[in-house]
Formats: sequence, structure tokens, C-alpha cells
Amino acid sequence: MALLEVKDLSVTYRTPFGTVKALDDVSFTLNEGEAIAVVGESGSGKSTLALAISRLLPPNARFRGSIIFEGVDLARLSPSELRVIRGTGIFMVFQEPANSLNPVYRIKDQLMEAVRIRRLRSNEPFDEGEALKEIISTLRDVRMPDPEIIIERYPHQLSGGQIQRIMIAMGLLMRPKLYIADEPTSALDVTVQAQILKLLKDLKNEYNLSIIFITHDLAVASIIGDKVMVMYAGQIVEEGLMSDVITKPYHPYTQGLLSSLPRISKYEGKLPIISGAVPSLINPPSGCRFHPRCPYATDTCIKVMPQLKNVENRRVRCHLYA
Ligand code: ATP
Ligand code: SF4
Ligand code: MG
Repeated sequence: MALLEVKDLSVTYRTPFGTVKALDDVSFTLNEGEAIAVVGESGSGKSTLALAISRLLPPNARFRGSIIFEGVDLARLSPSELRVIRGTGIFMVFQEPANSLNPVYRIKDQLMEAVRIRRLRSNEPFDEGEALKEIISTLRDVRMPDPEIIIERYPHQLSGGQIQRIMIAMGLLMRPKLYIADEPTSALDVTVQAQILKLLKDLKNEYNLSIIFITHDLAVASIIGDKVMVMYAGQIVEEGLMSDVITKPYHPYTQGLLSSLPRISKYEGKLPIISGAVPSLINPPSGCRFHPRCPYATDTCIKVMPQLKNVENRRVRCHLYA
């Protein structure tokens, strides 16, 4: 069943230099218990997408489109209605997770608050002793060593990997339907990163979580995602099942991303690692936004923006698949 349906979502930011078109007509569906990885280079609009779904965009942002979560269009909700959804339905871990914890409170107090909020919202009584037991057992679920000691600490006394585990535990204690993680592991070393990813994947199955996992790294994405959505310059350029996309990428940009990852893909593309960078989103390139970097670009690509089209069992935005 569809948990989240994003339809024609566009976001712009006002800046002194002009309007940034950060997201352009993004539509996708996420089913219950499913993980979708959102992949793209820096500036492709990944965090903007996460913030828009969580309705946490900054004041200089404007958005249109619909964000249907459990049948309710979040785009139309008032701030007070949103607070309820945020506490119970959608949990987001930000790109800088350390900033999500309050530095002046001990971990115990912050996790306690998560349980208290959840119980208040579902009109259940709150008991500190019971909550503490639940916190400890959830910290064991996220494989935190010595949880009784850890909860007495302040955030600055924890490592990056421990903070990640605390954030995941906090998410679980809130019982969200949708867990959004924005580059949660990119600051961690490779071993810890792998542990956290494996943990998230196990918890997804144990708790039937739906996950939006944001990363610039397709190898990381391939560990967690059932589906993958590749973003370029604020647009979806390819979306499909992870296994399909990494064995046979259709879009030239996805092919370029995969050529640099021989470890995860049997794909033997000839496309070299793509040079250049994501263009300015104040004045995006005409036609296909990828044309300045695409080895297959034609005159049509320079003039006409390709639409996102169904190609077999996935969606691709490229004139090669007209
Ligand atoms: P990264 O991988 O670096 O985190 P991202 O894919 O998350 O990148 P976004 O942060 O969504 O990208 O940014 C998309 C575009 O919107 C970029 O061009 C960025 O400069 C711009 N942008 C993001 N936030 C703001 C803001 N508050 N005001 C103005 N422009 C912004
Ligand atoms: Fe390349 Fe043209 Fe396809 Fe864009 S539409 S990705 S420029 S071939
Ligand atoms: Mg980001």
C-alpha cells in the first residue's frame, strides 16, 4: 500500500542573486515497509526534497505540489496539524545529526522526551520507570554497547557512530511510519558507516519501517534501497528497482555514477566518470539539464527538456528513450 505519494513537487528558494529552482516537478510513491534511496551529487536537491516532505523548508522557500501521507495532503496542513504528524508519523534525521540533539540535556532526558511525546499523542499514560526500560531495550535493538552508561552522557561525550545510533533509537521510540535519513553516515568512517547501514536495514525488517535514505554515494544507496531515485539538478532522471538500475542503468548520468563503482555493479559501461559539476539552479541549462556533461547530447537535447517517461518497469528522463 502507498504510504507516501509525492506529486508534482516543486521548490524554489529566493536569494539575493535570483530564484533557485531547487526541485522541479518531482513525483514518486513509497510503499509501506519499503526503502527508497535518493542519490545525486551535491546541490541536486536531495535535502530540499527531505525538508519539503517533512514541511521543514526554510522561510525563503516556496513550494507547490502535493505530499500525500497516509491519505492526507501534508502540503495543505496548518502548523498545528503538522506538529501532530511530525511527532508520530514522520521522523527525520538531518544531514548534521549532532545538531538534532540538544547539547545541554543528557541523552536519557532527550530519549525520555521522545517517549513522553509519543504517549501523550496517543493518549496513553506516561510512566518514567517504564519509559526507561523501553529506552534501554531500544538502545539494545540499535546494538548500543552499555546503554545504561551512555544515557547518562551529554551529546558531546559521544562518537559520531554513537550519535547515529541514538538518533535511530529516538526514531524508533517515536514509532514513525516514515523514517527520513539525510546523509546520516557520510561523516562516519567506512566501517562504522557499514554497521549503521546494516542496522538500519535489519530494523527496517523488524519494525516494518518505510525509509527515505539520502546519499550522494550509490554504493551506500545499494545497501539499503529497495528502489532508487537518481536526482540531477533538481529533477528525477531515473527511478526504478535498485537491482534493475545498478545492473542496467538507462540514464547516461546513472551510467556515469555506476562506471565509478565497479565493486557494486556488473555494469560494463563505456561512460567515463562524469566530469564537471551540477549546474546553477538559478539559470539551469536549456533542454536537458544534463546536456553540458552528457557524451550523447544532440541538438534536441540542448533545446527540448526530456520528460520523465516509463521505460519498461522504471522511469527515465532522456531523449535516448523516446
Ligand atoms: P548536498 O549533497 O550538498 O547536501 P543536496 O542535494 O542536499 O546537496 P540541496 O541542499 O537540496 O542539495 O540544495 C539544492 C539547491 O538549492 C542548491 O543549489 C542549493 O544551493 C540551494 N539551496 C539549498 N538551501 C537553500 C537556501 N536555504 N536558500 C537558498 N538556496 C538554497
Ligand atoms: Fe544526454 Fe540528451 Fe539524454 Fe540529456 S536527453 S541525458 S543530454 S542523451
Ligand atoms: Mg543535502
